Amino acid sequence: MNVMTGVDKFVETQTAKISARGVQVHYGDTHAIQDVNVEIEDRTVTAFIGPSGCGKSTFLRTLNRMNDTIASCRVEGAILLDGENIYDKRVDPVQLRAKVGMVFQKPNPFPKSIYDNVAYGPRIHGLARNRSELDDIVERSLRRGALWDEVKDRLDAPGTGLSGGQQQRLCIARAVATEPEVLLMDEPCSALDPIATAQVEELIDELRQNFSVVIVTHSMQQAARVSRKTAFFHLGKLVEFGETGQIFTNPIDPRTESYITGRIG
Ligand code: ADP
Repeated sequence: MNVMTGVDKFVETQTAKISARGVQVHYGDTHAIQDVNVEIEDRTVTAFIGPSGCGKSTFLRTLNRMNDTIASCRVEGAILLDGENIYDKRVDPVQLRAKVGMVFQKPNPFPKSIYDNVAYGPRIHGLARNRSELDDIVERSLRRGALWDEVKDRLDAPGTGLSGGQQQRLCIARAVATEPEVLLMDEPCSALDPIATAQVEELIDELRQNFSVVIVTHSMQQAARVSRKTAFFHLGKLVEFGETGQIFTNPIDPRTESYITGRIG
């Protein structure tokens, strides 16, 4: 078991895909993330839970430098992806985000066809040599997004014309089209109905076989259903990290216990 109960105590696992070391995030004077250390495993779903405003999304965004786009945001510490610090000056954030893909709360397909939404990343990263290779990537990605059967006869239709759940699966297909190694999901089901949520959760379970998946969720039930590891954040600190079953049935920190039993948050 890989349990972390304090910021300075963690057991390194050999399968760590991402290691966060002493990560601090400020937005101007707001200290949003305070000295977070965590190891995220490969081919595993890791859930980030905690009350609103505790820093889940902020920390998630440090994992692919999405915070770079926020002027007031300052990140300190290191995030190692396969041992390399993604904040190193030599790292190109655009290349990084192809490796560490992201899916947002609200499905945000481009105002383009279904095909072009998925082909967008492979085109800008030069992943296909010709149209037939691109067709293959689009089909494979839509299959991985569990959407192919529903859209294969209308690839030229606008992505924005799909249902909310289909749009979110399109965004997942778009994210996996660049062959990322890590997939970050920021409350990916919060705009979806229960049926679409169940489909996306099932998809997450499949994606885990090839990717490291990190999901922010405000739903403890969802974290319990989809994840193997859970990190509980509170007031900008990573309070507890461990096996999901342990976090929900036998938390070590009283703050975690208060949250999961509904006393805080
Ligand atoms: P969570 O995802 O757990 O709800 P957030 O990461 O969104 O928490 O927020 C953590 C803290 O950082 C909060 O105090 C929030 O107000 C602040 N914050 C988040 N995003 C920004 C931003 N773009 N500018 C300034 N402050 C922000």
